[in-house]
Amino acid sequence: MNRPQVDIPTQPQPPFPLTASSHIVSGFGRGSLDLGIPTANIPMESLSQQFHDLPVGVYFGFCRVSPNLTYKAIEVKLLATPDSQQQRAVEFSYGHKLSEKELITVFPHVMSIGWNPFYQNKEKAAEVHIMHKFDRNFYGAAIEFNVLGYIRPELDYTTKEALIADIQEDIAIALRTLDSDGYKKYSEL
Ligand code: ADP
Ligand code: MG
Repeated sequence: MNRPQVDIPTQPQPPFPLTASSHIVSGFGRGSLDLGIPTANIPMESLSQQFHDLPVGVYFGFCRVSPNLTYKAIEVKLLATPDSQQQRAVEFSYGHKLSEKELITVFPHVMSIGWNPFYQNKEKAAEVHIMHKFDRNFYGAAIEFNVLGYIRPELDYTTKEALIADIQEDIAIALRTLDSDGYKKYSEL
């Protein structure tokens, strides 16, 4: 399958930039396990109507993660897996274990808005892959981000390798675009 060619404008065009602040929830844990590309899942309810109006697809922008001050202690939660017979233990560190450097850095991200397998693909889901290698998970952390543009529609894949290759391409496009003059200035969140 070929990805459609999307021309990215030299600076954000309406409805972009969009901004949001939210917290990270857990999904099925598939992103890291299956693809090696973790995505911080964001509850759609925490996003403005403009996000709900976006077509499903892949977007990009800048983000910053920080501790979620509502939760002081780290918890381990038992959560559902796709195979509902089983549960997985997930550490909710609420961002309290992020490094000093990670707390002050604004990272580039690619965001997918797609149909959520968790809800039998009946509801939309927003997932943010941050272009940074974190040493550990930060479930429950606060996240602020903007969305500056659109890369491509949601596509169906027959192989995992094809999906991974497309995400790598999305990441390359996002990094290149975010480093350009029309976009760089939006890194001040
Ligand atoms: P889930 O289905 O629970 O979202 P994932 O396999 O997609 O599971 O992993 C997501 C989690 O991985 C995030 O919630 C976050 O805590 C962690 N994580 C580690 N590195 C990154 C990264 N570079 N971008 C996004 N999330 C990351
Ligand atoms: Mg995810």
